[in-house]
Amino acid sequence: MKRIVDFRSDTVTKPTLAMRKAMAEAQVGDDVLGEDPTANRLETMAAEMLGKEAGLFVSSGTMGNLVAILSHCRWGDEVIAGDRTHLYNAEAGGASALGGVSYHPLRNNESGMIDLVDLEQAVRPADGHYAPTRMIALENTHNFYGGLVLTPDDIGSVSNIARSHEIPLHIDGARIFNAAVYLEMSVAELVKDADSVTFCLSKGLGAPIGSVLCGGHETVERGRRMRKMLGGAMRQVGVVAAAGIVALETMVERLGDDHANARRLAVGLSKIPGISIDPDSFPTNLVFFTVDTDRQSELARCLDERGVKVLPRSPRWRMVAHNDISTDDVDYALDVIDNTVRDFAIS
Ligand SMILES: *Cc1c(COP(=O)(O)O)cnc(C)c1O
Repeated sequence: MKRIVDFRSDTVTKPTLAMRKAMAEAQVGDDVLGEDPTANRLETMAAEMLGKEAGLFVSSGTMGNLVAILSHCRWGDEVIAGDRTHLYNAEAGGASALGGVSYHPLRNNESGMIDLVDLEQAVRPADGHYAPTRMIALENTHNFYGGLVLTPDDIGSVSNIARSHEIPLHIDGARIFNAAVYLEMSVAELVKDADSVTFCLSKGLGAPIGSVLCGGHETVERGRRMRKMLGGAMRQVGVVAAAGIVALETMVERLGDDHANARRLAVGLSKIPGISIDPDSFPTNLVFFTVDTDRQSELARCLDERGVKVLPRSPRWRMVAHNDISTDDVDYALDVIDNTVRDFAIS
């Protein structure tokens, strides 16, 4: 069988055997009636790990962020977010389209943060000309900036401003566990200053489906209604939530392996002529680089045919380490990439 190593995303991870077993054996009930014990357990467990009052199981990170926005904001309100965030760029404009909430993008700097002076100035004064600012969002780890990690100090500095205006701070923590493992701290400690957090079970944690929105009781209860409105309330959802519990129990600590593999990959790529990358700028599991060829898509197709799948988004290509990628897979991919790039006679 042809060897295929898929580095496109950590979303391609397949559920582990333990997850499949837990799914098969899950106790279930009607979650819309609040009677699915497995979904309830996942929500409680996630909330405890994040140090928040409550949790809400949702179908995706996108739904988690949207439900958070709809929970914190009302029609006509405004959300401040970095201009390179997933929430602003890659969630189909849901807050505006479905919630009547406008986005107020602020320039993200190279570390994935927003400038605090910009932020202070962006908060709308109470004046009928403006859409009231009702949520501020941060992203951790920062996808566009190569999985960069915001520290508790970064988050605290934004939360100080948010609190002074009584505006909730939401963290899009799709990969918040990667950040916590990198910082060697608990997720609860890392997100202590956030009012709500979304994280994905379906990325590095390896579950097949799902995200959890965590926050205060009120935020989560209103979020539950918003989830219903969006058609995201599901019935015997414990079948899926069971895998999420296994993910939280068994897949967090191993994220460090992904970070080591990403590091190995980045260093290896930096030695291949024709590839430009700063191997020191990827602390977690995402790796970005540029390839010096005007035949980008042809090269990507060629790698694909040789069994190495990457995300060849212009201008930067992305490769992601995850549970289904071993250190040997990294070495294999580096070998294939080295040979293929050579065939393209780059440099
Ligand atoms: C993947 C991702 C999301 C959205 O998650 P989906 O489950 O794909 O909807 C949100 N934010 C960030 C930073 C992400 O990387």
